Amino acid sequence: MSGQEKRTPIPMVDLQSEFSLLKPMLLKEIMEVLESGHYILGKKGQLFELRLADYVDAGFASGVANGTDALYIALKSLGIGAGDEVVTTPFTFFATGEVIAQTGATPVFADIESDTYNLDPKEIESKITDKTKAIIVVHLFGQAANMDAIQEIAKKHHLYVIEDACQAIGTEFKGERVGALGDIGCFSFFPSKSLGAFGDAGIIVTNQESLSHKVTQLRNHGSTSKYMHESIGQNSRLDEIQAAVLLVKLTFLDLFLHKRKEIAKRYSEGLVDSIKKPIVPNSRAHTFHQYCIELDERDQLADYLKQEGIASAVYYPVPLHLQKVFAGLGYKKGDFPVAEQAANRILALPISPELSIDAQYTIIECVNQFIKKG
Ligand SMILES: *Cc1c(COP(=O)(O)O)cnc(C)c1O
Repeated sequence: MSGQEKRTPIPMVDLQSEFSLLKPMLLKEIMEVLESGHYILGKKGQLFELRLADYVDAGFASGVANGTDALYIALKSLGIGAGDEVVTTPFTFFATGEVIAQTGATPVFADIESDTYNLDPKEIESKITDKTKAIIVVHLFGQAANMDAIQEIAKKHHLYVIEDACQAIGTEFKGERVGALGDIGCFSFFPSKSLGAFGDAGIIVTNQESLSHKVTQLRNHGSTSKYMHESIGQNSRLDEIQAAVLLVKLTFLDLFLHKRKEIAKRYSEGLVDSIKKPIVPNSRAHTFHQYCIELDERDQLADYLKQEGIASAVYYPVPLHLQKVFAGLGYKKGDFPVAEQAANRILALPISPELSIDAQYTIIECVNQFIKKG
């Protein structure tokens, strides 16, 4: 770029553009809430729960304050706590492991598939003990995990399956949307997620009425009728303003996911083949919450892109089994080689639905240039 005018920086996400696009609809919905005087557990929240349950084809949905609470409450609703073990992936956002520890249970990690970055079913069974109560499956980056194989293992060993679908709203596994495939599913609507609120928000879905009842109790001080408490719960509710925002955005979700897939296709066609690009096995699907490439010179590429005004990000630089806070679990470097290799080599490129075609080609060109220069 030397000698040329500096181009407009390309950010990882562009939430302002999305807001300007939907502004009239969003402001109308938000104003309705403001004028109603009803801000917590009201009509918008209920309607959003119905629409979201319908969207993922779940029987029940309960809004909560964020995706982390969704996971925590899901575990609590299944009675998981001290003395129990929960198997999950070490290659995920910290919250997945954090909530297991928060309940008093022990996180037990199993390595991932190198192609999809999701739990490798072949690695799960050897981690199961008589203390194991559940598996938390993460559909990482928007790609479905191998639910058939994982459900089969869970069935054989009488384990619950909790889906951390925080990055995978709208993703299908064999034609069915993730989240409602296991016993209980969790979504986050953190602003940068594929369906994002204007603050923190989350939801729990299930097909089991008794579980749904338990979840609805736990998110509201263990109560389903005012001032009557049946369990020790917490305060974790989806507020009406966030629900109003999500109701508007949900109607555009398929369009936004389509745009993500189009950008991913363009990247995969345009980027040189010496870089490892996302691999989507036949039975799986991917909605590209993130588009991640892999290469040895990851850090150098990130620096180069930064100089060119292009943002990129590393999800995730340190796998959970090597996090300081989990040192007490006794894991060491080398325990999960696939996850560790991914952590050292992975790089996410910008993929928000508003990313212009020009910006997409600029990114492709810059990455290819970096590789060509060796
Ligand atoms: C975002 C995310 C969470 C946590 O969601 P919050 O709404 O930020 O609490 C949990 N797991 C995964 C995989 C996530 O991406």
